[in-house]
Amino acid sequence: MADTPTPMMQQYLALKQEAGDALLFYRMGDFFELFFDDARVASRVLDIALTTRGEHGGQPVPMCGVPVHSAEGYLARLIKGGCRVAIAEQTETPDEARERAKREGSPVSKALVARDIVRLVTAGTLTEEALLEPRRANLLVAIAPVRDGVGLASCDISTGRMELEECTAEALDAALARLGASEVVAPDDWDGPFPDIIARPRADFRSEAGEARLKDIHSIATLDGLGSFTRPMLAAAAGLIAYLDHAGRGTLPFLLPPVARGSGAHLAMDAATRTSLEILEAQGGGRAGSLIACVDRCATGAGARQLAEDLSAPLADRNAIEQRLAGVHYFHADPLLRADLRAILRQAPDIGRALGRLVAGRGSPRDLGQIRDGLSEARRIRDILESGIDLPPLLGRMIDALGGHAALVDHLARALVPSPPTERGQGGFIASGYDHSLDALRETSGNARKAIAALEAKYREETDTASLKVKHNKVLGYFIEVPAKHGDKLMAADSGFTHRQTMAGAVRFNSLGLHEEATRIAEAGAHALAAEDGHFEELVGEVVAAREAIAATAAALARIDVCSALAERAVEGDWARPEILDEPCLEINGGRHPVVEQALAKTGERFVANDCTLGPDDRLWLIGGPNMGGKSTFLRQNAIIMLLAQAGSFVPAASARIGLADRLFSRVGASDNLARGRSTFMVEMVETAAILSQATEKSFVILDEVGRGTSTYDGMALAWAVVEAVHENLQCRCLFATHYHELSRLADTCDALSLHHVRAREWKGDLVLLHELAKGAADRSYGLSVAKLAGVPPPVIKRAKAVLDKLEKGREKTGGLAAGLGELPLFAASAQAEEKDRDALRDALHALDIDVLSPRDALDKLYELKATA
Ligand code: ADP
Repeated sequence: MADTPTPMMQQYLALKQEAGDALLFYRMGDFFELFFDDARVASRVLDIALTTRGEHGGQPVPMCGVPVHSAEGYLARLIKGGCRVAIAEQTETPDEARERAKREGSPVSKALVARDIVRLVTAGTLTEEALLEPRRANLLVAIAPVRDGVGLASCDISTGRMELEECTAEALDAALARLGASEVVAPDDWDGPFPDIIARPRADFRSEAGEARLKDIHSIATLDGLGSFTRPMLAAAAGLIAYLDHAGRGTLPFLLPPVARGSGAHLAMDAATRTSLEILEAQGGGRAGSLIACVDRCATGAGARQLAEDLSAPLADRNAIEQRLAGVHYFHADPLLRADLRAILRQAPDIGRALGRLVAGRGSPRDLGQIRDGLSEARRIRDILESGIDLPPLLGRMIDALGGHAALVDHLARALVPSPPTERGQGGFIASGYDHSLDALRETSGNARKAIAALEAKYREETDTASLKVKHNKVLGYFIEVPAKHGDKLMAADSGFTHRQTMAGAVRFNSLGLHEEATRIAEAGAHALAAEDGHFEELVGEVVAAREAIAATAAALARIDVCSALAERAVEGDWARPEILDEPCLEINGGRHPVVEQALAKTGERFVANDCTLGPDDRLWLIGGPNMGGKSTFLRQNAIIMLLAQAGSFVPAASARIGLADRLFSRVGASDNLARGRSTFMVEMVETAAILSQATEKSFVILDEVGRGTSTYDGMALAWAVVEAVHENLQCRCLFATHYHELSRLADTCDALSLHHVRAREWKGDLVLLHELAKGAADRSYGLSVAKLAGVPPPVIKRAKAVLDKLEKGREKTGGLAAGLGELPLFAASAQAEEKDRDALRDALHALDIDVLSPRDALDKLYELKATA
């Protein structure tokens, strides 16, 4: 018998099978319960008690549970912990279950409430305010690898934005790094090199299905009006929508019409570059210390999300960048306007996300209130902008999107109370005066409540019991209560009271009058709730009908927030508007690293500004000088200034002329990447190889200490060859920091290369780092002084000095580490020489008349050729 699962267990197991590897939240009254391994995982992640309930197969069943009313917080932690959760709700009440059992002729006492999985909660399909970070987008990405490319579909269902793009298999890594998705799905037969990807059936990723679904969702006959979408893009869209369908159990969330992302529209950056520039996350993980944390002054979450997107994907189109810069400039030039606007924005709720919840059918009265408030703030902003003169085109285009909701705002304002609740079931969110019959129902219950208060007074008097009270609880409803010692008086048969309950110190009664009033309250309450529910549905319908226009308003607010926040940041940090050019130059006066500058300011230190002037004739700077002297800071600050400029921001410099770049590469700092099982040196070489194969004349490359991860000879040789390759082949703008003095000889042969160093001075035996860039090669290495500065004990320093002297003497004798490098043919020349040798060989072979050669002659000839090869 023990082996036959109970009906409840059978139901549980069937649902669990459906949930697959997602944890099953099984609704039991006021709790969601988890069993077996799910319970073990959840109790560990949530740090809640693991108990047991009943037995299965002769073993106690592990169990834990979370209260339904606080489930969101627990869900948030589970999702953060990398779990997915299937929610199994009761789809009928116990009464309904009993009715059904009666109809079906099964035992009523054992009737089991029907349950069904109503939703799969996953990191990429969240809409709940409590589960989302306000300042971060939450992307779900689908990958569709096809024969000669990869389609990518990404969407943020909290706001409905959807984007389709196509890339090569090699560029997928960079694209995923740019998107920073919370969840990625791909066909189950794909063996891409990325961990944590959710496998979905290949059949979900068919481009015809994608096209059909998109047309259907947006009720259009053709996608042509939206942009041009390739087959891989549509296949990815199909996979994305199929997964959303699966997670929402047939209810699709809010999706705006997809936007096709062109490949050349943005400044390309690979994953390593993003990590090393710490754009959205600092090296140690987390937002603190990152570029965005330093730049972000947005007043709204939606603005912060837009800024993150801008910094992740800076533009490569001059006109588009200028438009953004003009927007920032407009607010930069007018502090009063900026302050007014930001004060309004700070009040504006996140209407994009409220809309997402409402469209997904998970909205609350509070979300309606947010739409109302957000749209009316948008209208105020429109009025302010409209009264401005010389509005730049970017802002001018926002005017329409900011208004146009007058009727909806008016309706919501009339219908809703000032701050509607998050709970829809309790009512109380429809304003009085909006619906007269609702008002009447409320008045009825109000009157009944007054009548009950009057009854209390009356009964006290009649029974002469001052301590008599009318009370209410969930089980009994309204009742009359007197202390036990007065109970007998009311017990009398003709008292008009009927006994309900005897407690330790009190007795409880009912009366006809009380019953009537209580019934009036209950009935009116139920009718009022039904009426409010009806209004809710109607208002949601109205909002949903205007969803695209509301989403456009949300987008406009976010863009205005970004422009004004960047203006604010520029004023705060004394940043300048960059000049954007097409020539490959990078001329920065008084440039600063915003994150380092901010960190130094906290301790009262001053950041030393430095210039950078790269151009066609001087496009590669070799930068030497002591460790800790500021080389990598200088490299990064110039990359960051370019990135900010192309994202449409002012930049931390006195002035800047920036030639548009197509790609930005950064290889700075040998960070260990043990997680991927590669040594520091291997990582360095893989990244360097990527740069050498992908950079173009329009790219900007920063390279720090290439070759540091290996022996001196190997390292220097590699650094030497890389500099030559960048100079001769790539011909891009490049800053190259190195501590190999010997590389300075490259200045003799590479005419667009110049030497620079970070200055240091020895003062009274101590090293002073000036963090100032100067022309020319570094005079010497300050390794020992830096070691001393760092607190290496004096005896060790002294010993090191002795060793160094010996080494340097030896070096002088042999002509130094780079002895003989002067005689090395130039990089291009050595490649040419090889080519020439091959040509000579080819010619010699060609000249041979094999038919007339004796075997002996042929052998001789072979020896001869081999000797020249
Ligand atoms: P390097 O790459 O030459 O070893 P870093 O760029 O890592 O040196 O700089 C080391 C430290 O020096 C930084 O953490 C910072 O505190 C300080 N620093 C760097 N550049 C500057 C500067 N321009 N002004 C002031 N301090 C700086």
